[in-house]
Amino acid sequence: MTDLTIRNVNILDGTGAAQFKADVEVEGGRIKSIGTAGPAATEIDGEGKCLAPGFIDTHAHDDGAFFRHPGMEFKLAQGVTTVVSGNCGFSAVPLDPAKDMVAASGGILAGIEGDFNDLEGYFAAVLERKPAINNMMLVGHNTVRTLVMGSERRAPTADELTEMKGHVERAIAQGACGFSTGLIYRPGRWSETDEIIALAAAAKPYDALYTTHMRNEGDRLLEAVEETLLIGREAGVHAHISHHKSAGKQNWGKINTSLEKVDLALASGQRVTLDVYPYTAGSGRMIEYFNLDNISRELAEVIRIASCPAFREYEGRMLVDIAGEKQIDITELVREILTAPKGDRTICIQFIIDESDIETNLAHKDMMVGSDGIPDLNGQPHPRLFGTFPRVLGHYVREKNILSLNEAVRRMTSLSAATFGLTDRGQIREGYWADLVLFDPDTILDTATYDEPKREPEGIELVIVNGEIACHKGNHMGIGSGKMLRYRRPAFNE
Ligand SMILES: [Zn+2]
Repeated sequence: MTDLTIRNVNILDGTGAAQFKADVEVEGGRIKSIGTAGPAATEIDGEGKCLAPGFIDTHAHDDGAFFRHPGMEFKLAQGVTTVVSGNCGFSAVPLDPAKDMVAASGGILAGIEGDFNDLEGYFAAVLERKPAINNMMLVGHNTVRTLVMGSERRAPTADELTEMKGHVERAIAQGACGFSTGLIYRPGRWSETDEIIALAAAAKPYDALYTTHMRNEGDRLLEAVEETLLIGREAGVHAHISHHKSAGKQNWGKINTSLEKVDLALASGQRVTLDVYPYTAGSGRMIEYFNLDNISRELAEVIRIASCPAFREYEGRMLVDIAGEKQIDITELVREILTAPKGDRTICIQFIIDESDIETNLAHKDMMVGSDGIPDLNGQPHPRLFGTFPRVLGHYVREKNILSLNEAVRRMTSLSAATFGLTDRGQIREGYWADLVLFDPDTILDTATYDEPKREPEGIELVIVNGEIACHKGNHMGIGSGKMLRYRRPAFNE
């Protein structure tokens, strides 16, 4: 008998096609039929709600979260069934267990445990924890460079470059979907374009990706886009721009020109894609945004503390308010936080993006959605960790009509699956893996806010991962049916 049927649903199949009424049968983890279902061991009445492929978070930092929070509740509750981790140049591999790679990432990779050094070792270690969702990995430049060169502020020698390239090639050979950079971060910011071209070229034999948190997202955004396109062309790989934005008031609106550059590149035949998160604040490691010799007051004034091991009492508060209460200058407060023990592990939230730029981004035809959530649940994280996908569907689709429901679902599913090489996923199609989300298009909405960032969204009824019910009416089932995916190949151990 069939394992599971979901009856009476409106199917959004992920291709962007109009919805249609049908039942879906699931067997052996895959979609067996779409049409009229027979009896099954488990039957669910979808009550006329929408059934879509599970959402794919193209921009995640969940490398360590798979150890700390294998239930991945903050993703599952949004309908996310697959994440792409290892972004912004920080990845779980390559790892030297003798070195503190987590410290080098400023806490972005926090949580990683185990005695592995390569991607296969990481996959095996994560699978022991029974992850709730699927994971596709990138191999990160900052991680590779730290392993080979420490924190050297210079170009690599020929030998060092060869060694770095070897690490990138090995990870991609083991199934990573590409090479990521975070060129605003240390040590990525010390690299020249040539170094990145040489390393990104390691993705070429696999036709894998180059993804980037660009060197600049503000005053020199356009130069950074040019650099990204150049790297893609010279390395001969598909380039993907992560969390596209114009940061800082003086730069708002620049994304229009940036998108024009992307469109021109596309018209010339270059492969380039982008993703965005639907919020006006960014979030990251605070020490990367400040020069301690010349602390920017303007930036400090729009910052809120997400997590701060040195001063837990500051979490969830704006620097302006803390400085006022302590009666000290805000730049002194920044210095106090960043120079304290573990101060470099402070994660902040910065309100630097214009709302209309988010709408422009979401209106761009192939814009994907990535949360960029930083899974540090100790503090008060950016609400994007819990709310990204329902926010797009509730706020930008239903309330603001920036894009259609079919189109939004396509950009969260089939487009992301095709781009990031998720084999047999991202569509409701016979034979495809049964990663599914049942939601109510009339009520779906994020409820996580900056003040209450850890609230699960509304309107998500059911989430299925590889054919297993992972979350039902807000209850996390603890099944652990997630897989470690490999680029355009069967999953690890499959
Ligand atoms: Zn980033």
